Amino acid sequence: MKNTIRDFDFKDKTALVRVDFNVPIKDGKVTGDDRIIKAADTINFLVDAGAKVVLISHLGRPKGEYKEELSLAPVAKRASEILNKDVKFIASKEVVDDKVVEEVKNLKSGEIALLENLRFVKGEEANDKDFSKRLASLGDIFVNDAFGTAHRAHASNVGVAELLPSCVGFLVEKEVKYFDEALKNPERPFVAILGGAKVSDKIGVIEELLKKVDSLVIVGAMANTFLKSKGLEVGKSLVEDDKLDLAREIMAKAIENHVNLILPQDVIVAPELSEDSKGELKEVEDVDLEDMILDIGKESLEDIKNELESAKTVILNGPCGVFEIEEFSHGTIELAKILANIDATVIVGGGDSVAAVEKAGVEDKLTHISTGGGASLKMLEGKTLPGIEAVSDKE
Ligand code: AMP
Repeated sequence: MKNTIRDFDFKDKTALVRVDFNVPIKDGKVTGDDRIIKAADTINFLVDAGAKVVLISHLGRPKGEYKEELSLAPVAKRASEILNKDVKFIASKEVVDDKVVEEVKNLKSGEIALLENLRFVKGEEANDKDFSKRLASLGDIFVNDAFGTAHRAHASNVGVAELLPSCVGFLVEKEVKYFDEALKNPERPFVAILGGAKVSDKIGVIEELLKKVDSLVIVGAMANTFLKSKGLEVGKSLVEDDKLDLAREIMAKAIENHVNLILPQDVIVAPELSEDSKGELKEVEDVDLEDMILDIGKESLEDIKNELESAKTVILNGPCGVFEIEEFSHGTIELAKILANIDATVIVGGGDSVAAVEKAGVEDKLTHISTGGGASLKMLEGKTLPGIEAVSDKE
């Protein structure tokens, strides 16, 4: 068990808090503030506990160089509005310099500051010892509340956690709890729905879930590789020809493990992938050479719905089709609506799935929507995340 923020007395201490403020920004304004809102519980708790709160985050991929458009300045402004409290932007292109150290020292208990984009410094992603030391010199206790980067070993999570007493914030605690409970002790039936582009990206997840779930539903372009491996025509669809044997092995493993593997029965096809393409509903046996499979059909949705009716734990990762285009978004949106209406613990991970449930307007009806795409995949693979591993264990 990792330390949580309830395990420390923060009174008059400086809490160095790694948050995930990697939010969309357009024309100097934050256009999606979900991640800031989700960090608020931890920040407010620390303020109420009398800590001096120093927030650190990355934004985008500046690759170790200062880029004005990737400054966290607009985020400090939006965070002040959301927290209803001034968030001082203590900015340096080097993130930590003597002036920053001085300004952090001058913070009063209950005050909040945000430093500049961590990735302006090369040492961040390199988990460089010196940069870790400079960051750690700012705080008394390190709080990791950035689940989205926990699968990476960077200075601002692994490096500092090795140098300061550390704990996880509420958001990371919640993420780990849901994934752990679902994977270690799921209420059954346990159904996993995997979609998205490639089998190869999710092979670790499939192998792990085959040991745990009662049913595994494969949708999206991933399903094409399975359909083709069964000898079906998939035409011009996205398919991984070098993974056909793997798909067969997975199907055999599912039988061996008594896992009900569900593939689409009908699909929406179009001659090409474009905004103007018109979809046509076809049985999977009727797909021909000129078709591209771009979504699942009604029968497939009905099959999944039947499977989900008795489910008690559900994991969704990846869309059913090219949901970015309206014409091919119905499978993904309808599935999200089905998930919103079942009596089960529903955990959604992966950036695209999160975008899809938001598009369907059902995010409030699902148990847990993960804030980390890569990190949630690693959890589903049964792996530990370095950013969380580095946090001190409870005594
Ligand atoms: P992933 O990052 O692996 O979860 O994949 C998400 C991407 O898969 C989205 O951009 C979807 O547009 C894409 N995708 C899902 N189904 C299909 C499909 N049938 N053909 C092509 N791309 C797809």
